[in-house]
Amino acid sequence: MKNAMIELKNIHKQYPRNNSPAPLVVLDNLNLQISAGESLAIVGPSGCGKSTLLHIAGALDVPTSGTVLLNNRDISQLNEKQRANIRNREIGFIFQLHYLLPQCTVQENILLPTLANSSPNNDQVGQYAHQLLKAVELTEFADYLPGQLSGGQRQRAAVARALINKPSIILADEPTGSLDEHTAETIGELLIKLNCEHQLTLLVVTHSPSLAGKMNRTYKLANGQLELHQ
Ligand code: ADP
Ligand code: MG
Repeated sequence: MKNAMIELKNIHKQYPRNNSPAPLVVLDNLNLQISAGESLAIVGPSGCGKSTLLHIAGALDVPTSGTVLLNNRDISQLNEKQRANIRNREIGFIFQLHYLLPQCTVQENILLPTLANSSPNNDQVGQYAHQLLKAVELTEFADYLPGQLSGGQRQRAAVARALINKPSIILADEPTGSLDEHTAETIGELLIKLNCEHQLTLLVVTHSPSLAGKMNRTYKLANGQLELHQ
């Protein structure tokens, strides 16, 4: 495979258990390669380790053992500060719950990730925020608070926030899980549009066959490993 953007090699992840000295093994010698611009779905029952996998791929967590390569750079051994830096610059996260700050407007929420950048060009960033507001069809709602939006609008704001630092990768954890079918469909279409137009690499955990069907490939996570689905 040419130039994998994310490569997980021999990933093992275990957690200590409260009620037993034996650890809970969640990922067991898992391997995955994703090329730049690819879109990929991960499915599997609740508790099988999908979020754990996404967090490791996105440098939110580290594996117990194994290697995580992001653009050929090993990120599995970095400290928390170095990982935070990589996350902020290269990866956009979308979660099932939007995690917008309730006291900030839509526009302020979208701009939040830019506060960590060392020398932001405020004009450029502001312009890009406007472009993103337009792309997610929230221009008229820029000054609204999250509590004044519908579920789908909130999730679209979360998508724009994930994009503001121009990441090359979007990791989405059940992004349509709390939306009705129609709204879920529009979010799925938005993600695919961004994947196509901006060559964004897209890794999506989902229970929705419709959303998974929009991706290039679908893997099922079972017994700590990935198998090609269908
Ligand atoms: P999924 O996203 O597929 O529902 P998760 O990755 O969230 O699954 O969790 C996989 C398993 O690991 C679950 O049994 C969960 O209880 C366990 N787990 C997840 N995070 C932790 C943690 N920080 N400490 C202990 N156990 C955890
Ligand atoms: Mg999960």
